[in-house]
Amino acid sequence: MRSFVYNALPARVVFGPGSIQKLEEEIARLGAKRALLLTTPGRAGMVAAVSRNLPVAGVFDKVVMHTPLEAANQARALAAKLGADCCVAVGGGSTIGFGKAIALTSGLPVLAVPTTYSGSEMTTIWGISEGGAKKTGRDPKVLPKAVIYDPELTLELPAAVSAASGMNAIAHCAEALYAHDGNPIISLMAEEGIRALAAALPVVVRSPKNLDARSEALYGAWLAGATISTTSVALHHKLCHVLGGLGLPHAETHAIVLPHALRYNYDAAREAMARLERAIGGKPAFQAIYDLEAKLPLPMKLSAIGMKEADLERAARVAAEAPYPNPRKVEYAPVLRLLREAYEGTRPA
Ligand code: NAD
Repeated sequence: MRSFVYNALPARVVFGPGSIQKLEEEIARLGAKRALLLTTPGRAGMVAAVSRNLPVAGVFDKVVMHTPLEAANQARALAAKLGADCCVAVGGGSTIGFGKAIALTSGLPVLAVPTTYSGSEMTTIWGISEGGAKKTGRDPKVLPKAVIYDPELTLELPAAVSAASGMNAIAHCAEALYAHDGNPIISLMAEEGIRALAAALPVVVRSPKNLDARSEALYGAWLAGATISTTSVALHHKLCHVLGGLGLPHAETHAIVLPHALRYNYDAAREAMARLERAIGGKPAFQAIYDLEAKLPLPMKLSAIGMKEADLERAARVAAEAPYPNPRKVEYAPVLRLLREAYEGTRPA
């Protein structure tokens, strides 16, 4: 066993069908009396239903993806105007991102109720976008004080969003397995997270209202978020950050790039790949992931989600110029090849 440093983050997790009923108790536990609820416009009805009888000071329902600075500032201003003493983010990674943006500048505690599989609720990572680029950082202030995982709230998550978001979670686990600062506990979580998600996602997309499969997927998502909370991410996430800056949708980009990034790292991270193969029940890992995705309602090529061929070289250059630590050296020519294959959606060989 290699030597390692394990830095556990504080986490309070309330998990299970119906656990949204504990929201009032969790707000009280924070000593809060004026909650600001955060949601996307599409989920505002659901949020109104779960927040009846709660000490709510107001609702911000203009959450959009990638936390644009201007919108984040509107949410911050509303929190200040209302005298909110906590934020309750009910939604996916975008909604939780707004909670984090508010916490970053105000220190307000965040309570997260994730309804996708992004894993953001378990991390200290915040991101704010401005002028086509996303600035990210880590700050303990933004880590939610408590997380309520209620699979019943995910029953309406559309099959395609579930699939993409679930692959985003698998990507967190995969990179945690070969992170330069990984450790045995995180590897256990990562392997179990991949197992749970790979088993649950095909069932979820076939029967979106299957509560057992939804519970298993959400459990995997929790583990996935926990893995990236203390380990660094590598080439795969770097590429997705670069492509996100070009305006590509977050979770779908992760799904498309993952098999190709795993192919890139395959020979340089054999132990991690063996764990991934055990978890998913197929090999080689990059083909097993590609084949799992091919069964899900997912776009399989970057060209299908708005990537322009002319931007491939620029993206490869940015990724290679300022790489994240990665098991295999990050070099322009092979990264460009990886991106081209992801652009065309070929099965990695
Ligand atoms: P999202 O939050 O944008 O949600 C996608 C869509 O699904 C939205 O329209 C939302 O309203 C809808 N939705 C959410 N829950 C639903 C439900 N239960 N039923 C029906 N519809 C529902 O997508 P996402 O993939 O969860 O999050 C992506 C964002 O999260 C990106 O900005 C990404 O950078 C960020 N992220 C951050 C971290 C981190 O650690 N900071 C980790 C992962 C993702």
